[in-house]
Amino acid sequence: MTLLTAALFGLVIGSFLNVCIYRLPRDQSIVWPASRCTSCGREISWFENIPVLSYAILRGRCRTCGDRISLMYPLVEVVTAGVFVAVAAAFGLSWLLPIRLLFGCAMIVLLVIDLQHQILPNEITLPGIVVGLAASLIADPGWRDALIGALAGGGLLSLVAWGYERIRHQEGLGFGDVKMLAMIGAFLGWKLMLLTLVGASLLGSLTAGVLMLAGRADWQSKLPLGTFLAIAAVPVSLVGNTVVNWYAAFYR
Ligand SMILES: [Zn+2]
Repeated sequence: MTLLTAALFGLVIGSFLNVCIYRLPRDQSIVWPASRCTSCGREISWFENIPVLSYAILRGRCRTCGDRISLMYPLVEVVTAGVFVAVAAAFGLSWLLPIRLLFGCAMIVLLVIDLQHQILPNEITLPGIVVGLAASLIADPGWRDALIGALAGGGLLSLVAWGYERIRHQEGLGFGDVKMLAMIGAFLGWKLMLLTLVGASLLGSLTAGVLMLAGRADWQSKLPLGTFLAIAAVPVSLVGNTVVNWYAAFYR
């Protein structure tokens, strides 16, 4: 019952995340005006705005202009519902429930925006650092771990960015990635921040390898690091501590 509630709540929030994903990179307000068809501009009525269901009934097309509605919309809604169920199952009714839900939402928005626009908006990463640090005062990972996580996350990637520019004489990763990893460190602490970075690097290398084999990328191609950080950060925020404990057991 609780998980069903989480899923339904996730679908509705996912619908709002779609608004953020579309409007934040375009510097539009996320609360006003009402949603419009991005092709013909007609205002979308409530029954066209029901998560997933409307997309299925309209068969992915606008009722007026017939233009295709991106599959990304229902996808974001379903993924958000999935994340909500997973977070609710992992943390139950605790302080970590709202904190990790918020974190998951931020990661989903950053994932898609970085994929589509190659930017990570300050409107999310900067408040994210502050909220993550504030939340660590009342819940895991505790303020010390969170503070070290934010500083180390930002510092580590700054160093990589600086080194890459020195060697290759071009910008390899943006300052957005730096702020995003600082935010991940603030929410999850330094251990899970490192685990996220390792996971994202593996995922990124794997994707680059596959793309290069398929002839869709070369050594000069840029991959959105923020997207991979987000994909790694969500599972790490759920089961990362188990992984860290298992790893640490080898050294005891
Ligand atoms: Zn339309």
